[in-house]
Amino acid sequence: MLGLLAPAFAAGTIIRIHPPPPIAPPPKVAQAPSSNIIYLRRCPPGGCAVHAGQIDDSRTQTSSIAAGDVTIGQFTQPAQVWTDLVQCVKDTYAPYGVVVTDVDPGNVPHFENIVGGSPTDLRSDIPNAGGVAPFTCDEIPNAITYTFDVYGPDALSLCWTASQETAHAFGLEHELLQADPMTYIGGSLPKRFRDIDATCGEYTARACMCPARPTQNSYRMIVGLFGPGAPSPPTVMITSPADGKSVQPGFPIAVAATDDVRVDHVELYIDGTLAGSAAMEPYDFTAPDLALGAHTIEARAIDVQGTPASAMIGVTSVPPCTQTKGCEGTDVCVQGVCIPGPKQPGGLGAICQMNDECLSMNCADGGEPLKHCVATCDLGTKGVCPLGFSCVPDGATGACWPAPEGGCCDAGGSPRGPALLAAGLLVLVLRRRR
Ligand SMILES: [Zn+2]
Repeated sequence: MLGLLAPAFAAGTIIRIHPPPPIAPPPKVAQAPSSNIIYLRRCPPGGCAVHAGQIDDSRTQTSSIAAGDVTIGQFTQPAQVWTDLVQCVKDTYAPYGVVVTDVDPGNVPHFENIVGGSPTDLRSDIPNAGGVAPFTCDEIPNAITYTFDVYGPDALSLCWTASQETAHAFGLEHELLQADPMTYIGGSLPKRFRDIDATCGEYTARACMCPARPTQNSYRMIVGLFGPGAPSPPTVMITSPADGKSVQPGFPIAVAATDDVRVDHVELYIDGTLAGSAAMEPYDFTAPDLALGAHTIEARAIDVQGTPASAMIGVTSVPPCTQTKGCEGTDVCVQGVCIPGPKQPGGLGAICQMNDECLSMNCADGGEPLKHCVATCDLGTKGVCPLGFSCVPDGATGACWPAPEGGCCDAGGSPRGPALLAAGLLVLVLRRRR
């Protein structure tokens, strides 16, 4: 058995050792795990003594990947880094029926992650490893894995490594999913085990090392081993409209929801009645026609374990707006609905590069030097866009686009767009950027 390495601490100098999996591992029989304890062992000033042996045994400090009887050096980072590391690993494993602790569980079966020292304390052939673990494509009872003290005070990088190494001992290999601890790919931290069928690999896709595993779903594998942990709800927020706002028939509702594993879907309730459901981001809805007056809107996000969370606002339904009346503040009227106007960041007509810069989530390219945030309009109807905008063709429908000399939005000095519009040739085809 050789080890699987964690991402290196010095980019570009990593040495990756990927042993072939053992020949025909025994078929996995559904059974309880050997232990539900992950012990994070902080190496004291005298270091952590480890013995070499054929079979890992955390109770006797026997490691199958140690070069001999060795001592892993002290973990030298401040107490706060340790506290943050332990909390982050606890959070990472919170969805599962496993306990993460930094208190020595004593002479009972447990998984152990030794934290400290440098990789050459363990063996000479992995000088650039951030961590290492034994690996068999299956659970290794009482496994000892390692997180080396090579990231400085970066608790989240230490956490990424400790989470990955411990999970190697549960049979998980590397995958290309950036948001998952099992990856080598950097980017935002912390990472969490995801309910996504991910391609195996380090920096490029490869076949998974373990037989009968076309892809790897880290969440499913770990929950399959330990069962679910205490339910933790997603976070959910209605980002538009604002609480207390006046709304017109057909107004848009935007919801933001996140979860440490995966949001399964978001449900929309109006006055307590289910009015829509969305399984994919963006969680955008169009309100049904409502009677004039007060209404409650609730967004309910449900995670993969069925745990719900909800956010609620109140709105007042009012008649459709027109170009000249019915909207508050700097809002403008599009097809009878008030939406944020050009004077608001990300509002209609705002200059943009990407969809997520627009409150409408729609940044369109009209063939002019600048792109603008747009809203959908009905080409056949007059006056559906606010003053200063025209409804121009956009695929099968139309989009409200800053009109030339409309005084809006600094539409740019390109002769092309305005010339086409001025000639009455409404042939701008807006290209969506997704
Ligand atoms: Zn690894």
